[in-house]
Amino acid sequence: MEIEIATIGGYEEVGRQMTAVRAGEDIVIFDMGLNLSQVLIHDNIRTEQMHSLDLIDMGAIPDDRVMSELEGDVKAIVPTHGHLDHIGAITKLGHRYDAPIVASPFTIELVKEEIQDESKFQVDNDLVKMEAGETMSIGERNELEFVNVTHSIIDAINPVLHTPEGAVVYGLDKRMDHTPVVGDPIDMKRFREIGREGDGVLCYIEDCTNANKKGRTPSEAVARSQLRDVMRSLEDFDGGIVATTFSSHIARVKSIIEFAKEIGREPVLLGRSMEQYSGTADKIGVPFPDDVGMFGHRKSVDRAFKRVMNEGKENFLPVVTGHQGEPRAMLTRMGRGETPYQIDNGDKVIFSARVIPEPTNEGQRYQSERLLKMQGARIYDDVHVSGHLRQEGHYEMLDALQPQHVIPAHQDMGGFSGYVDLAGNEGYKLGRDLHVTENGNTIQLV
Ligand SMILES: [Zn+2]
Repeated sequence: MEIEIATIGGYEEVGRQMTAVRAGEDIVIFDMGLNLSQVLIHDNIRTEQMHSLDLIDMGAIPDDRVMSELEGDVKAIVPTHGHLDHIGAITKLGHRYDAPIVASPFTIELVKEEIQDESKFQVDNDLVKMEAGETMSIGERNELEFVNVTHSIIDAINPVLHTPEGAVVYGLDKRMDHTPVVGDPIDMKRFREIGREGDGVLCYIEDCTNANKKGRTPSEAVARSQLRDVMRSLEDFDGGIVATTFSSHIARVKSIIEFAKEIGREPVLLGRSMEQYSGTADKIGVPFPDDVGMFGHRKSVDRAFKRVMNEGKENFLPVVTGHQGEPRAMLTRMGRGETPYQIDNGDKVIFSARVIPEPTNEGQRYQSERLLKMQGARIYDDVHVSGHLRQEGHYEMLDALQPQHVIPAHQDMGGFSGYVDLAGNEGYKLGRDLHVTENGNTIQLV
């Protein structure tokens, strides 16, 4: 059977991920993401109303025109997890394929919400929920399996396409977490089995986000413990404390809520995406305590802030959007004095996030911190661990899977270099079985 991989998006950047695997006549698409920084660089662009071709020209969504070179039928579109760089282009490209969208329950809910917000295209692909550990037939001879992985969002999986020529393992995005706080540990046992059963692994496509970093990515339990340390140190503080993190990082948001209560404060989630992701998690059975207020709309947020100011800031802990300094996010608006929340000298702001190393984010975060500091806020930075494997994790994955071919993804050329080195140490050779590639290419493996 012929096996071919199309590297459509995310091979020259972190963002707009999309890869297609053709096994005989059957094609499966993995991820269909957005490159958010290409959108944010423009002022006030509303992608909901934009046409696909304009977004492709902007570099915001994958250029899927290479799909016409693959001879076969698309049988499934499989986003690995709910981050926008993996699901954000489904509303712009999904309708072009007569295939269901197959994903884990949390991811499917987020895709559903994206589709509801879309105003340009009618996306009516079937939405199929599949859990980690489950499988589905793809055509007559191939099978799709979901393996549980751990990442900075719940319900992340790595899909595996079992073909008569061996397995194709799509490895985006993960870290190796054995104590993930919410959800199950990464299923390394299954990866080792897949590496050893039948014809083994034909090809592994890997998340190279942190491939230039030595060592091992710590567990979410480590971030939780750092966070607890910071928050417990503020137990006797009687001013304002505000925390910010990724709204989609359910485990982290839940830890902040728990420790807020531990130090005698009432947590309140504020901001549109805070309300959205936490509400969605609650809906799929990752419950939030009933007494935690979640407010997204401007008026209800203002009302919540007024209540905080009336009843005393020392009794509350607002958890807000804006960890990257996004100009319209809640924390930035608080810094500009646009909300009823008054920041006083010595108030604490906890960033449970790292700045995504990219000039736009760095600039915006700098501005946001300056605004907060001008009002006297004190900053706790980088109370965080990454969601992506570092080098020792990559070695472990190669050991577990023993793939015949490896394709680095989720980075640019500079980002791939660390991975090329370490795969070289494991005996892979560029151009032979280690395929560094760009967007819009096809690689024929069999
Ligand atoms: Zn991700």
